[in-house]
Amino acid sequence: MAQHSGSKELRSRLRVAPGRGPLDLTAYDSSDTPGSPGGKRRTLAATEAMRPRLAELQQRLYAQSTAGDPRRLLVVLQGMDTSGKGGTVKHVATGLNPTGVRVRTFKAPTEEERAHPFLWRIRKALPDAGEIGVFDRSHYEDVLVVRVRALAPRATWSDRYDVINRFEQSLVDDGFTLLKVFLHIGYEEQRERLLARLDRPSKHWKFDPQDIADRALWPAYQEAYAAVLERCSTDAAPWYVVPADRKWYRNWAVGTLLLQHLEMIGPAYPKAAFDVPGNRAKLLRT
Ligand code: AMP
Ligand code: MG
Repeated sequence: MAQHSGSKELRSRLRVAPGRGPLDLTAYDSSDTPGSPGGKRRTLAATEAMRPRLAELQQRLYAQSTAGDPRRLLVVLQGMDTSGKGGTVKHVATGLNPTGVRVRTFKAPTEEERAHPFLWRIRKALPDAGEIGVFDRSHYEDVLVVRVRALAPRATWSDRYDVINRFEQSLVDDGFTLLKVFLHIGYEEQRERLLARLDRPSKHWKFDPQDIADRALWPAYQEAYAAVLERCSTDAAPWYVVPADRKWYRNWAVGTLLLQHLEMIGPAYPKAAFDVPGNRAKLLRT
């Protein structure tokens, strides 16, 4: 029980208040552990302890969709390279029923994708009713990397904040609950993690020489992220800033936010649309 009230508090601590105005990410400590149930050991234990409840709520969400309930959850993960988007997906999905989970990563758009409006590939990847969708990167790249690297003119990307807000509002109107998480890591922590990728052959596949070029653009990225958090944290779909230098905290925080958003949906098993005793009697006669 304490965990649930704690999670409510976590939500308000990590949430970017809609309309709060200019935001300075350097004021957010990426190594902080706000609201955690204790140190590393306790927090890891709390993370494990919430899994059965997560699985139960996912099952109910899926079950109620079979009776026509349109509700679904979409987790949007954004963050600099090595911020742990992939690790968070792995952690969040562990213990859930894979049938009801739809994970999608977004890379630089293909030629076909580039020929369409930026939300085209996003719409195609949305979760169905009853599913939990997880986006590792998302439509926000179109106001992040695109802005920082000037992949489109300002006139193009600057309109997208409002387009995104309207898009997300329409999703909410259609039964989506959005959980948007910015995994905030520090500059030094990123160096350590990139070095670890270079030092271990088993991690080379995760390294992209481009990551060093992106790192050189760190201040511009922080500014672009601040603009996203400022302009696209809405009542319908607020942003959460999760300090991500400590993986055990990151996993607990995202798990707790996920749990709380599922609880907000409050999914319930549907009532049988058939005659239960009648079918039971029939079966016993077989
Ligand atoms: P990763 O997630 O590390 O595999 O890298 C994916 C890369 O795709 C990142 O460098 C992103 O910035 C890039 N990317 C994702 N979406 C877009 C987009 N809409 N436009 C340009 N680059 C993108
Ligand atoms: Mg990468």
